Amino acid sequence: MSFGSFFNPQSVAIVGASRQRGKVGYEILSNMLAAGYQGKIFPVNSKAEEIEGLKCYPDLTSIGEVPELVVLVIPAKVVPAIMQECVKIGTKSVVIITAGFKEIGKEGKALEDRVVQIAKQGGIRVIGPNCLGLIVPANKLNASFGGDLPAAGGIAYLSQSGALLAAILDMANANGIGFSKLISIGNKADVDELDIIKAVSDDEDTQVIAGYLENITDGDAFVRQAGQISHIKPILLIKSGGTSAGAKAASSHTGSLAGSETAYESAFERAGIIRCDSIKQQFDYAQAFASQPLPAGPRVAVITNAGGPGIMAADSIERRGLTFAKLDNGTINKLASVLPPAANLYNPIDVLGDALAERYSFALNAALDDPNVDIVLILLTPQAMTEAAATAEAIVKISREKPEKPILTCFLGAKKVEDGVRILREGKVPQYDATDGAVSTIKVMSDYVRWRSRPKRVVKLFPVNRRKVENIVERHLRQGIREVGETESKEILEAYGFVTPKGSIATTAEQAANIANQLGFPVVLKIWSPDILHKSDVGGVRVGLNSEQEVKDAFDLMMYRVPKKRPEANILGVLVQEMCKGGKEVILGMNRDPHFGPLMMFGMGGIMVEVLKDVSFYLAPLTADEAKQMLVSTKTYKMLKGVRGQEGMDIDKIAEGLQRLSQLVTEFPQIQEMDINPYVVGPEGTTPIAVDARMSLEQ
Ligand code: ADP
Ligand code: MG
Repeated sequence: MSFGSFFNPQSVAIVGASRQRGKVGYEILSNMLAAGYQGKIFPVNSKAEEIEGLKCYPDLTSIGEVPELVVLVIPAKVVPAIMQECVKIGTKSVVIITAGFKEIGKEGKALEDRVVQIAKQGGIRVIGPNCLGLIVPANKLNASFGGDLPAAGGIAYLSQSGALLAAILDMANANGIGFSKLISIGNKADVDELDIIKAVSDDEDTQVIAGYLENITDGDAFVRQAGQISHIKPILLIKSGGTSAGAKAASSHTGSLAGSETAYESAFERAGIIRCDSIKQQFDYAQAFASQPLPAGPRVAVITNAGGPGIMAADSIERRGLTFAKLDNGTINKLASVLPPAANLYNPIDVLGDALAERYSFALNAALDDPNVDIVLILLTPQAMTEAAATAEAIVKISREKPEKPILTCFLGAKKVEDGVRILREGKVPQYDATDGAVSTIKVMSDYVRWRSRPKRVVKLFPVNRRKVENIVERHLRQGIREVGETESKEILEAYGFVTPKGSIATTAEQAANIANQLGFPVVLKIWSPDILHKSDVGGVRVGLNSEQEVKDAFDLMMYRVPKKRPEANILGVLVQEMCKGGKEVILGMNRDPHFGPLMMFGMGGIMVEVLKDVSFYLAPLTADEAKQMLVSTKTYKMLKGVRGQEGMDIDKIAEGLQRLSQLVTEFPQIQEMDINPYVVGPEGTTPIAVDARMSLEQ
C-alpha cells in the first residue's frame, strides 16, 4: 500500500480539535498551524464554530470533501463510530491518537479489535491507537503533539513509545538533527513496524531507517523483508527487553539456556539490522549513515592536533578490529613538503598543536586522495592557536568537494569548540564528543558494508528419510504423547543421517551381561524410563564397565537405587550401550521461538552445560557458514581445534550435524524443542555419535 496520504496528504481533518490550550486536540491543531502546513486543515468538533481562525465542522460528513488524512483525538469509546463515518466518506488513512485500547486490558483490546475490523472492511489503514502522531518535516506536516517541527533530514524514525519520540524530537531540535519522517506507531493495531520500514524503504528523502521497538509483530516476515530492505538502506533499531510473549517452562537444555532476547539478536543479525543500546548511540550511527557515503573498506586515517587523542583513537580502532590505514608514499611525501618538521606524517597524522585551519585542510585533502584510505577521522582539541570554527568550515567545504569517502569529526571540549561543532552539524559532517563514539560508528558502517556484500545464503539440503520421521511424529501426536523418548528420538536422528551408539534394553542382570558381551567392553548402563529426563541426576548412568561382573553389579545397584529416588517413575529396564571413547562432548539443540521459529544451539556438552553456559544460538535454517560461525563464537571451539599439541576434532562434521538438525526442525515444525547431548565428536575423519537425545512435540 502507498503511504502517500499519511506522508503527504493534501488535506487533514482533526476530529476532536479543541480550542482549549493544553488539550491534545488543541496541541495537534496548533502544531499543524505552527509547522506551516500548506494543505487544507479541517477541525472537527460539534461544540465549536471556529478554532484558531479555521472554520470548525460538526462532523466529518459536513466537510463536504474527503480529507486525505484523518486524525482522531476523541474518547476511545466513540472511536468505532467515527471510524464508521470515515468509511462512509471514503477516507483511506487514519491516525488514532487516543489511548485506552489494548494497553488497558481486555475491554480495551475488544474495542481495538472492533476498530481494526471496521478499518479492514472499509479499506482504511490505521496508525495507532495510543500514539503521538506523525511528522513529515519536508511537507511541513506535524500531525502530532510531540513538539516543534524538526529540520528535514535523512533519518526516518519509528517508535513504539510515544513519550520516547517526544524526547528524541526535543534532543534532535536542540542539536539540529533532521528527519524525513517521524512516526509513533503506538499499539500497532493495523500499521506495524514492517509496514513503516517498507513504506520508507523507497522514500527518496530517507537515507537511514531508525526505530525503537518493544516487540515485533510478525517475526518471520520481518526477518525476510527487513533483511531485503537492509540491503538498500541501513536499519538501526533499539529493541527493549519487554516480556517474552512465549515464555514457557522449558524442559530441554536449549530451552532453558536461550534467553528471551536471544532470538531477537539472531533475527536482527540475519536481517542485517544494526542493534543499538541507547538513543545516543543510535543517533551517533544514524547521523553518519544519513550524511556520509558508505566506506569502501575498513582502512581509517586519523588527523589530529594532539598526541593523546590520536593514541586513544588508534587504540579504539585496533580494539574494534578496524584497520589503521598505511598511508601511500606519495601522501607521506606530500605531507612532508608542507607540514612542519615535528609533525607526524604517518597515521595518525599529527598536524601539531599550533595547526590552523589551513594545515587541517591540507592534511584532510591528502588523506582523502590517498588510495589506501577508506575513511577519515579528524580530531581537534582547542589549544591556544586552534581555529575551531574556521577548521570546521574548511572540513565542511572539503566534504562537499570530495563526497566519495566518509569524514567523521571529533572536536573535543565544549565552549571553545561550540561554534565549530555547530558549523559541522549544519554542514552535515557527523561530529562526536568522544573518540570512542566516532570509532564505534566507523566500525558499524564498515560492518554494514561487509554484511551487504557477503555471499548469498545457500542452505544445503541433505538427502534424508522424511517419511520415517513423519510416521513417528504423527504416531506420537495421535496418541497425545509430547515427549519423544530416547529410542524414537534416535530413530528420527538416524533418518536424518546421524549415527547413534549400538545397544539394547535389559530387564535382568543376566541379560545385561549378555548384551555387553555382544557389544564388547567397555559398555555403558543407563536407566530406561519414559519418566526420567536427566538420567545422571538420579544415578541412572554408569560408564566404563569392563566386565560381565561389573555390568551385573551396576545393573543391580541401579535397579535398587533409582526407584528409591524416583518412586513414581515407570522403569522399563536398563539400556546397555556401547561406549564411545576418546571423543569430546558437545551439545546440539533447538528451541522454537514463538516469533522467529527454530533457534539452533551449539555448545560445550555433557552434564555441565547449564553450569558452563558456553553456548551460541542462531536461527534455522543454517548455512554451512552460519553453522561454522556458531562453533567459532564459543570457547569450546578453541578446545575442539586442539590446544597445546592436542589433536583437533573434526569441526566440519560438527557443523554438518548442526545443519542436518536445522533441516530436521525446519521440515518438522511439530518439533518444539530438542537436544542431542552429548554429541560425541572425534578427530578429523571420524563420525560423531549422538549418544543421548530428547525432543518434545507441540502441544
Ligand atoms: P543424561 O543426560 O540423561 O544424564 P546421558 O546419556 O547423556 O544421560 O549420559 C550422561 C553422560 O554420561 C554423558 O554426558 C556422557 O558423558 C556419559 N555417557 C553416556 N553414554 C555414553 C556413551 N555411550 N559413551 C560415552 N559416554 C557416555
Ligand atoms: Mg544427556
